[in-house]
Amino acid sequence: MTGTDKPRRVLLKLSGEAFGGGAVGIDTKVVRRIAQEIVPAVRQGVQVAIVTGGGNFFRGAELQQAGIDRSRGDYMGMLGTVMNCLALQDFLEQEGQATRVQTAIAMGQVAEPYIPLKAIRHLEKGRVVIFGAGAGMPYFSTDTVSIQRSLEIHCDEVLMGKNGVDGVYTADPRKVENAQRFATLSYNRALVDNLAVMDASALSMARDNRKPIRVFGLEEPGNVTKALLGEQLGTLVST
Ligand code: UDP
Repeated sequence: MTGTDKPRRVLLKLSGEAFGGGAVGIDTKVVRRIAQEIVPAVRQGVQVAIVTGGGNFFRGAELQQAGIDRSRGDYMGMLGTVMNCLALQDFLEQEGQATRVQTAIAMGQVAEPYIPLKAIRHLEKGRVVIFGAGAGMPYFSTDTVSIQRSLEIHCDEVLMGKNGVDGVYTADPRKVENAQRFATLSYNRALVDNLAVMDASALSMARDNRKPIRVFGLEEPGNVTKALLGEQLGTLVST
């Protein structure tokens, strides 16, 4: 990076599945490894914002099936995302990386409120900003929030870290033997063919605002650093 280049700014979406290692709660080994892979990219000048999912704790739609009011379940889901923020924050701070958590639901003792200009300032100072509590509104997803935050704080791209797959395929590679991975993919194809990138409202927001999305596998050691630094892993979803 030369002195005149604009620093790369990215939004990394980490799903609840990444935090839980497929189970309920937090797999600290996995979260520590992800934190350790984020730090080298920040040290090389990449500005990193993160949106955490919460599916390792609760999903409102699933709680509704079990008899809980949907909105209340969604708030429970949003609170789960904040626990993931705090776990990641802790491991990043243990690596000597300055961080700030900003939440869409006010909780002054543990996090700042979401203030986009302040988030940008943190990023400029080399702090990792972790966004929690989704949009603060039921019936939204953290995928949609990832696109919205990336637009509002002017990220160059959204990096969707996935568990179990390393990109977007023509069919589920865990079920279909000859499924092919896309190197690039258009928003429209992803929407029309209902390919596993992110939910449709998130994808259409990305399409309408031309925000590139890179889908990559989280599990391969080193991939988080590579994706943050701009290596062309997995699948790029764009116009
Ligand atoms: N959620 C919500 N509004 C938001 C973001 C999340 O209501 O803006 C709730 C919703 O119930 C969702 C849960 O929080 O199921 C966890 O988020 P998500 O399912 O997006 O997490 P992930 O699938 O990435 O683990």
